[in-house]
Amino acid sequence: MKLFEFTSNQPEETMSFAKRLAELLLPGDVIALEGDLGAGKTTFTKGLALGLEIKRNVNSPTFTIIKEYQGRMPLYHMDVYRVKDSFEDLGFDEYFEGNGVTVVEWAHLIKDQLPSELLSISLFLGENGARKIVLAPIGKRYEELCKEFFI
Ligand code: ADP
Ligand code: MG
Repeated sequence: MKLFEFTSNQPEETMSFAKRLAELLLPGDVIALEGDLGAGKTTFTKGLALGLEIKRNVNSPTFTIIKEYQGRMPLYHMDVYRVKDSFEDLGFDEYFEGNGVTVVEWAHLIKDQLPSELLSISLFLGENGARKIVLAPIGKRYEELCKEFFI
């Protein structure tokens, strides 16, 4: 699988990277976000929201698990950190199959419920605010998306 990498040195850079990516997203796209606590998953999602022309402030849905925002199209923002077991079904499918973009923080925790094709994005903590952002497209749609984005 081809991986696409980017290094961000500050939160604003992570957000503008995500904003540019969001400009290419289509209804039904699913992004699986991985990375330790504080790696920047929610910061990345805030950038996506900007690119989707969402005006409301996006913050972590840790306690609610799913939050929905309206922009150029809906953004379904999930943080499944507190989902008790990987099979606990909170109706995720309806979001994945909905007409918005779904972003899942800690996606591997519900890996059995994820769609077979998605864009996996991992954030790695580095020194002095640096973050390595690695995009791993799974499926043709996401391979094309990454190619277009990284031209
Ligand atoms: P997560 O959702 O992965 O737990 P958050 O996005 O909530 O992470 O928090 C990331 C924290 O790290 C924020 O306080 C953000 O300002 C800070 N930060 C510092 N440098 C960066 C960077 N390059 N990219 C993203 N966040 C960064
Ligand atoms: Mg978060």
